[in-house]
Amino acid sequence: MMRAMMLETPRSRLVLRERPLPAPGPGEILVAVTACGVCRTDLHVVDGELPDPKLPLVPGHEIVGRVAGLGAGVAGLAIGQRIGVPWLGHTCGICPYCSTGRENLCDVPLFTGYTRDGGYASHAVADANYCFPLPGAGEDAELAPLLCAGLIGWRSYRMAGEGSALGLYGFGAAAHILAQVAVVQGRRVHAFTRPDDEAAAAFARSLGAVWAGGSDQMPPEPLDAAIIFAPVGALVPLALKAVRKGGRVVCGGIHMSDIPSFPYVLLWEERHLLSIANLTRADAREFLGLAPRAGVKTQITRYPLAAANEALADLREGRLQGAAVLVP
Ligand SMILES: [Zn+2]
Ligand SMILES: [Zn+2]
Repeated sequence: MMRAMMLETPRSRLVLRERPLPAPGPGEILVAVTACGVCRTDLHVVDGELPDPKLPLVPGHEIVGRVAGLGAGVAGLAIGQRIGVPWLGHTCGICPYCSTGRENLCDVPLFTGYTRDGGYASHAVADANYCFPLPGAGEDAELAPLLCAGLIGWRSYRMAGEGSALGLYGFGAAAHILAQVAVVQGRRVHAFTRPDDEAAAAFARSLGAVWAGGSDQMPPEPLDAAIIFAPVGALVPLALKAVRKGGRVVCGGIHMSDIPSFPYVLLWEERHLLSIANLTRADAREFLGLAPRAGVKTQITRYPLAAANEALADLREGRLQGAAVLVP
């Protein structure tokens, strides 16, 4: 048997269910979950802000575990091996996006913990071609946030370009990982938190931010780029105002409240505004190789699997520093 925290209808509490252990199909693996991170996207799924989830659904797409079963045709993975399962669960391989190296935009994808069952569970089944071996050091729970906050953060960071003055709006799981990478790479990190959230600002400074302040403040220097991780559309004009001519503003989240109208002068002078969708497997391989070399250390709060609702509530209310991780 396996245990899972399940979403049975949107906008309701997850419920703990026991069900038979699934058998991995062709090309799939069974994963014994040892840790699963809690991502803001899980909140958007549970809160009904993302359309048409699989129901009932096991949320969770920052899975670390051990390979516990191999489906037919799976090669290159061994029972007992440590593995990570990210948000991108499957792509078609033949649509115009997949065939041009942009599988993150696949027309018919599957997403872990959204359109296929995820890791708020003791076990999960995953497509072997979309899993990543996690060799080396690091506790399972500390690695879990790398699987989405890290990966989507990394894709956002690359899209932000090479400039040295970087702004991060919303200093949660993704920003606290990205800040460490950016500092190692010699960037000057400016962290924008909720106004008057001195604890979050101090956390950002402790990770090497040269400046931390409220999102209603202007940074002490014009930014080359800003990444918005908070799901708050009102930050878009603020971030555009904070970047220099030719600067970039990258929206890193999957859902955002409406963006208020703003004067064209904020976009003028070749400022760029773009969003990041999902990840490619190339992003994952690149970042999962780089994170240990950069010495990324996540700050996590562990919750038992059965306390998934409390973890989601703490994330929703901004009571977390770093990332929440469920341990079955
Ligand atoms: Zn495709
Ligand atoms: Zn995520």
